[in-house]
Amino acid sequence: MQLSSDPQGGVLSRAGDAASLGRLRQRVEDHADALVAAFYDALLADEEARSFLHHSVVQERLSPSLRRWLVDLFAPGADLAGAAFAARQQKIGEVHARIKIPMHLVMAGAAVLKGRLADALASDPAAFDLLRLAGERIDHALRLMSQSYEKGASNRARLDEAYRLFSLDQDIHFERESQRAGLMEWSQKTLFRILASGGVEGAGALSASPFGLWIRHRADFLFDGSPHLTRLNAAMERIDAELLPRFTPGAASSDLAGPLEALEAAVDEVAFLLNEMFQGLAGMEGGRDPLTRALNRRFLSSILSREIGFANANHTPLSVLLLDVDHFKRINDTHGHPIGDEVLRQVAEAVTENVRPSDFVFRYGGEEFLIVLVETSLRQAATIAERMRQALATKAITASGLEPFHVTVSIGAAEHGGHPDENYLVKEADDALYRAKQNGRNRVEIA
Ligand code: GH3
Ligand code: MG
Ligand code: MG
Repeated sequence: MQLSSDPQGGVLSRAGDAASLGRLRQRVEDHADALVAAFYDALLADEEARSFLHHSVVQERLSPSLRRWLVDLFAPGADLAGAAFAARQQKIGEVHARIKIPMHLVMAGAAVLKGRLADALASDPAAFDLLRLAGERIDHALRLMSQSYEKGASNRARLDEAYRLFSLDQDIHFERESQRAGLMEWSQKTLFRILASGGVEGAGALSASPFGLWIRHRADFLFDGSPHLTRLNAAMERIDAELLPRFTPGAASSDLAGPLEALEAAVDEVAFLLNEMFQGLAGMEGGRDPLTRALNRRFLSSILSREIGFANANHTPLSVLLLDVDHFKRINDTHGHPIGDEVLRQVAEAVTENVRPSDFVFRYGGEEFLIVLVETSLRQAATIAERMRQALATKAITASGLEPFHVTVSIGAAEHGGHPDENYLVKEADDALYRAKQNGRNRVEIA
């Protein structure tokens, strides 16, 4: 990379000449405290950043290490192209990923640093050169940081997803009963204390009970992003912070009625929300659609992007099929929705019978299935699709009260051609499916 435009060479190069560097280092050291303060003032003014940066941690740990980082960045002996420098920046990036400080906030902080440095250097006759040198170094460090940040963040996302799938595979019914019982036990123990003494001392907060701990540490994985979980956490907090403190030992039993009623209502709400969340989960046990047992679409992106990564790394082919039942609306209209459901179940069965166990069958939409065919070329995919189409066209669909009948499907096939965006591959299959419909249905088209 050519970084120098200085005819004498060196001054603007990444290494910088010793004199400029020494001068820059001196200026940075002189202003280090102000620079670091400006960096964290800017971050702490940001609501998102405040959620994981606390003043005490900033003062005791982060400020000294940012100061060290800054000063070392301009140390005369610092070899920016060297492995030690890269390793240190990457380490910082990994830490940011682990503690989930978004990279965009780090970039915003770096912009503040550069601005303050420009102010500090304004009166220096060589300000322009020094700033350019400083900018190069800061940007280089940020590049290294963001490389490892991305890797760290995506590893983390993969692990989270894997853990979620793993959690879903656990016995959901057992989990539901245990947590219901846990909530019940806490509420009975607490009510007993209140009735015996008027107060709740010794009973403990709901959030500290086995139930509360489970909610705080496990529920996030199971009920990821559920609005019910947000409500449940709020109800739990209200119980602990607002409702329990209303009970004081020795209170007259006539004073207990109101608070007791409020507490019971709040516990009921927690029980209701817990039940609702498990109800939703039962519908996708093991990540599967309950009607067809095909994989739930929400896992498509994570699985497809992983398979694309595998295909790219191992130079193996990868194809997808998009299958849509022909004139499905007519089936619903003629025989009713429950028969439509039964047809979908049998279509999914036939699809699954015609792929290998290593392939993935997703319920993509109402009567659409997306099949990920691993280590499969377009030619092979077309053969599989044709076999699937014929199997369906000749399969007798049986439903109670009806003569056996037939349905047909249209299929679009596409092969991964190296494009890193998984949506691109799906779009190609979708375009092919559209052509199959246009060309008369009950047929396979390839991208
Ligand atoms: P085409 O050949 O063009 O695909 O015609 P189509 O009638 O299959 O196409 P369209 O997409 O218009 O109709 C799909 C219908 O599938 C509409 C919707 O009511 C029905 N559907 C979607 N999900 C379900 C389901 O889970 N069960 C049942 N029974 N029907 C569903
Ligand atoms: Mg459709
Ligand atoms: Mg259809």
